[in-house]
This record gives sequence, C-alpha cells and structure tokens, in this order.
Amino acid sequence: MTANKVHVLSCGAMSCDLTWLLLKAGRTMRTRTEQQRPPEWYSCTTHCVLVETPGGTLLWDTSCPRDWETRWAPTGLQEYFPYDQVSDEEYLDARLGQLGVQPQDIDYLVLSHLHFDHAGNIGMFTGTGAKLVCHEKEKEFAFGFDGAFNGAHLKADYAACDFDTVSGDTEILPGVTLIEAPGHTPGTMAMKVELPETGTMLFTSDAVYMGDSYGPPATPAAIVNDLTAWYGSVEKIRGIAEQSDATVVFGHDAEQLRSMRLAPSGFYA
Ligand SMILES: [Zn+2]
Repeated sequence: MTANKVHVLSCGAMSCDLTWLLLKAGRTMRTRTEQQRPPEWYSCTTHCVLVETPGGTLLWDTSCPRDWETRWAPTGLQEYFPYDQVSDEEYLDARLGQLGVQPQDIDYLVLSHLHFDHAGNIGMFTGTGAKLVCHEKEKEFAFGFDGAFNGAHLKADYAACDFDTVSGDTEILPGVTLIEAPGHTPGTMAMKVELPETGTMLFTSDAVYMGDSYGPPATPAAIVNDLTAWYGSVEKIRGIAEQSDATVVFGHDAEQLRSMRLAPSGFYA
C-alpha cells in the first residue's frame, strides 16, 4: 500500500548565522586571513508536510508560532534564530487554510522532534481529536529536564500534550514509515513516504539540516545532542535513500525547498 499525496507546506524562514547549522571549514569557519569577514547569515527555511493516505491524514511537524518573539524569549534564542522571513500567507494555519484543511481534519500529528521551530503550533490541534505522536526518547527527554526550557526544547510548546510514542522504525499509516534517527535530539525521527508515481520521499527533518550537511561526507552542526548517534543516523538515512531511490528532503535547506513543488498549488502523488 502507498500513500496518496504529499503536500509540502513552506512556512517562511528564520534567519541565523550559518555556523549553527554547518560546521564547515571554508564555508562558515574562518581562516586567520578572514578574521574580519562577517559570518554568513542564512535563510533557515521551515516546512511541514501534509500526507494523505487511505488510512487517514497526517501532518508532519508544525513549524514556528506567530508569537515566536515573546514565546522564545526565556531561551534567548529568538536573538539567534528570529522567525522574521515569513509573510501572513506562510504561517502554518494560513497554509492549511489554502488547502481547505482545518485542524480537525488531521488524524495524526507527528513531531519529528520537539524543538520550538517544529513543535511551535501543536496548540492548534489540542482538542481536535488528532493523535499526537513523537518518539519515546524524545518525550522522555522533553519532559525529563528541570525548568521551562533546555536549548530549543520549550515546555510551553508541548507540556499540555498527551503523546503516543513510537520506537524503532514504525509504519504508522499505509506508505508512511517513521524512521528513528537520533543525534540531533535524543528522539529525532525522519519520515519515509511511498507514493504511486513519485516513488519514495524521505523527509529528514533536523536529522539532516541541508544538502551540505548530508555530503558525503556528512558535516555536523553546532547543536547536536549526540554526535556519534548523529553520524550513524545520517548514514542510516543514506542507506534507506539509496535502497529505495528516494528523494531526500532536508530539514532547513532554503535552496532545495525553493526547487520543490510547494503547496497549495504543487504536490507529489
Ligand atoms: Zn531541531
């Protein structure tokens, strides 16, 4: 069985110093002769994915919230990752509306992980009957630390949520498999979708930020929970992608996102 359709919802971009995403000599790290050269600021695009299947509709991630500046203030990270490249029609609620989708139409809301730029709009789905899903290890970590936040995990985003958890690689709906890909966070997941015409699409979320991170060779980022696990997950994803001849869609790759068929007009079947 395959899924029916994939809609890629482009939700604008945060701005950030590229060094956060890519620790790469010659690109972000400077030589002694370049000490005065300013860091490269990057358009850190964010997207969600709506998957229609014979068994129900799934939304993958929820992007950033409209009130990011105040909500993220306790973490201080709003100064490093301002969500300031977004227009009114690009917020998640607007994107769903353009497709004629209401929050109550979502059967499964799956979070690749619980960082604030992925979990920022979970609140739109409370009380709608959507089944909330994340990885077992992600839930354990996200609820397990003391205080209001830990890095980009912000309890205000998800504290009220009752998650169903998965572990291992799990086919959650026909043609949709959640892939365990820890390293970025303890419970980061990727999502594999099999489609009748397009074939396999593999959405990496933050297991792989961008094409330059994927390589080969894989190039890590400044924010990694477990570097050894991260390298292992990139190679796991590469293996699955090669085996299934998949289109690999990275978590925050501005150039790649621009080249894709985007909702509301474009989709993959
Ligand atoms: Zn993340």
